[in-house]
Amino acid sequence: MTQFDLSGRVAIVTGASRGIGRAIALRLASAGARVVAGARADHAQAVVDEIENAGGTALAVQLDVTAPASATGIAQAALEHFERIDVLVNNAGIVRDQLLLRMKPEDWDTVIATNLTAAFSCCRAVLRPMVKQRSGRIVNIGSVVGRTGNPGQANYAASKAGLEGFTRSLALEVASRGITANVVAPGMIETDMTAVLGEGAVDALRGRIPMSRFGTPDDVAAAVCFLASDEASYITGQVVSVNGGMHL
Ligand code: NDP
Repeated sequence: MTQFDLSGRVAIVTGASRGIGRAIALRLASAGARVVAGARADHAQAVVDEIENAGGTALAVQLDVTAPASATGIAQAALEHFERIDVLVNNAGIVRDQLLLRMKPEDWDTVIATNLTAAFSCCRAVLRPMVKQRSGRIVNIGSVVGRTGNPGQANYAASKAGLEGFTRSLALEVASRGITANVVAPGMIETDMTAVLGEGAVDALRGRIPMSRFGTPDDVAAAVCFLASDEASYITGQVVSVNGGMHL
């Protein structure tokens, strides 16, 4: 299989332990990137072992994206081990669903901190080395919900819509330095996040997807890998939807 060549590149992936982040880490590694995989506690170790067993190079980093200094910590670890940072994928994300009238301020704050503020912090932490290199690729994982809204997900939708505006602004700031910033916005993807949905909800959602199926984590990872590649060097400030036509 011909694929994009990321040999020599160093890629940071947040939330790399499971689901979409795990698929992104594996896909970038199989394209030749050295992967710095972040997740809480030792959760990223398994994907790192998987990459290394397949002949790749990776480093597991303990990362709670809501903790102060976590962003500088993972950037520093990448620079110490691999001496450069070429790709940042802000993937770590959570939901805390509740109708707005019942939503607790901490449910709002935690979702914004994890899904939006963490991306700000991680981007800030990698920009200096990327500017020095005059190259870089930033991919933020958004959501179809950032475009459509969703009852019970005001916090989540705000975080993902915010990520889009943030990414466009960043793209404008760094375009002249050879750095691109884009969003990949998945629709419904089979992961732990959607595994909690009941059968009725899954059927209803599937009915809204023209391709009549949930996507796989690798469907999303493929788009991220493309945006991280040289072939995508003239694409910036965009939102790439990976949703089976769910929102057209
Ligand atoms: P999962 O729930 O399967 O995985 C979430 C990942 O985020 C885990 O690796 C988890 O790590 C990590 N994470 C969560 N909180 C933190 C934190 N505070 N610090 C560090 N890491 C953290 O989610 P998905 O794979 O489904 O989602 C990945 C991204 O894709 C998210 O941004 C999500 O919003 C987005 N998305 C998902 C969709 C879907 O249908 N699944 C649809 C649209 C967007 P740990 O192991 O430590 O918990």
